[in-house]
Amino acid sequence: MAATKLLCAIESNRRSVRAVSVLVIVALLVSVYFLVLSTGPTFVFANAMYLPIVIASVIFGCKGGVLTALVGGLMIGPFIPLDLVNAEPQAMYHWLYRSGFYTLIGIVVGLTSDAIRRNIKVQRKEAKLDRATGLSNYAALEEELARLKVIEESEKGSFSHCIVVIYLSNAQEIVSHFGLSSLDKIILQMSERFKLEAPLGCVVYRIRPDQLGILLRGKKEQELDYLCGKLRKIFLDPFFCNKLLLHGDIFTGGAKFSKILNRPEYYIQRAVAAALRAETDRVSRIILLSKKSDEIVAENLRLLGDLNEALHKGHLQMHFQPKIELDSGAILHAEALMRWHHPRIGYIPPVKFIPRAERSTLIGELTAFAIDRSLQEVVSFKKGGIDIKVAVNISVQNLAQPSFVYQVRSLLAKHGLTGESLELELTENSLMNDIEGAIVVLSRLAKLGITLSIDDFGTGYSSLQYLQKLPVSLLKIDQSFVGDLGSNEANKHIVDASIELAHKLNYKVVAEGVEDEETLIYLRNAGCDFAQGFLISRALPAKEFSFWHRSSKGRYSFSWLAQDCSLQSKLLSRLS
Ligand code: C2E
Ligand code: CA
Ligand code: CA
Repeated sequence: MAATKLLCAIESNRRSVRAVSVLVIVALLVSVYFLVLSTGPTFVFANAMYLPIVIASVIFGCKGGVLTALVGGLMIGPFIPLDLVNAEPQAMYHWLYRSGFYTLIGIVVGLTSDAIRRNIKVQRKEAKLDRATGLSNYAALEEELARLKVIEESEKGSFSHCIVVIYLSNAQEIVSHFGLSSLDKIILQMSERFKLEAPLGCVVYRIRPDQLGILLRGKKEQELDYLCGKLRKIFLDPFFCNKLLLHGDIFTGGAKFSKILNRPEYYIQRAVAAALRAETDRVSRIILLSKKSDEIVAENLRLLGDLNEALHKGHLQMHFQPKIELDSGAILHAEALMRWHHPRIGYIPPVKFIPRAERSTLIGELTAFAIDRSLQEVVSFKKGGIDIKVAVNISVQNLAQPSFVYQVRSLLAKHGLTGESLELELTENSLMNDIEGAIVVLSRLAKLGITLSIDDFGTGYSSLQYLQKLPVSLLKIDQSFVGDLGSNEANKHIVDASIELAHKLNYKVVAEGVEDEETLIYLRNAGCDFAQGFLISRALPAKEFSFWHRSSKGRYSFSWLAQDCSLQSKLLSRLS
């Protein structure tokens, strides 16, 4: 063990150890020569020659040991007389015998040290290999980065490097259905495709059982972007395994850097994090991190820190935007929308901070705050004689919170309200990520009497067959179809079809983003149930909303009815 450790240390500092050893061996050879010469015919100190021989054998192996043994044997052989006074030479067989013994020691120690050294080399090589596939592993990539750092220090000029990580996100599924060996086979095929497209000489590393990585060195920024894009495309084809074609759900992450200033693992971890983020976002299958994206992450973290503070310091407010019933004009519903007035930056729109909060644990607190404040205002409205059902936007991440249903029930109880006072809106796209999980939680919420609605309907890829399984009673047609209804024929067809289909499936329909009278009339005639938009009112602070509601006497007055009946017929004829 100790010998192995010693040899490991020697191997790690090979050059310097060898240089020092040569000097020590020469010094010892000369010292022993003079020692033997000066102590006369006994040759007692000839044993001291073992020292340089053993050192040479350990450091330089068998060849070094034998060479030192021969030189040592000769030095204290024919060149040293038996008697200095008479210059009587040693008997030849004496010094030959001694030299032979030295050589034997050199061979034995040298061979042993060679064997241990070979073993260390094999172990080191194996430590950098993935056993199942024979590909280089994480440690090998770390070593390549460490080497790159040394090269960088000696080279001038600025280049960019990029670690690209390919992540097989359905690896677990593959293992559980087809076994571990299938995963290895797919990983090998991935590495083959990788090698074909990557620049010549690029090594492919298996850094985790389900992740491959490569280091693209010394490239220009644009070249890196091009290469990463190319790598992404090669994984779209299925993989052949056990006579089956298997789909690999692959996400790519890249970390660009121009100089290695941190430990190698830092850069690998960033690339892995980017690949995992590509999987979570599902917007793009490839995410490249650069210095700029680091700044974005820092800004994100700062914003989330400020948002946390805003939650506790009262910088967040809920505003209310009315939804009117289209056949009667009754104002019985309002959507609660969050407003953040940052003390330094000013107004920050929800689209800027909600998606960021959704990627953090803060979304739990934020939604609880939105529901709590909205219900508090419902109670205030009631006290002022206004009966309003409030719709709060929730995120799909909330459904994953184990205590979410309990939390909603507690908040209703806190304000002495039943589920009938609350509506929860969820976007269509987010629901599709885990529809089965959503069904379970939404059913429990529906049991509390809460109305559930699908927001931004029409923007996603949801199948109505799936939507039907959800305990949802309202569809909100996205404003992108409603905004220019007056002029856009295609949108008219979409809205008409959505309303008809929704009604056949027993959903009520809300059209959001109504900005002009023509649209309102069109929607009313198309049989839409509710409308929401700037034409009716923007989202207002609770007090202003009460005032607006009271001055409207709880009913939106359609101007064409109030002003001139002929306006409606004029508009209708224009629309038809
Ligand atoms: P959303 O749920 O689709 O809300 C409707 C958005 O459209 C609101 O923007 C509203 O002010 C705006 N809007 C309403 N009528 C019109 C119109 O006639 N024309 C136009 N151009 N826009 C109209 P806002 O308040 O900026 O909210 C944006 C998004 O942020 C919301 O979209 C919702 O997804 C999210 N959000 C807002 N508040 C909350 C909240 O408390 N929790 C969660 N999870 N998300 C929220
Ligand atoms: Ca909404
Ligand atoms: Ca919406």
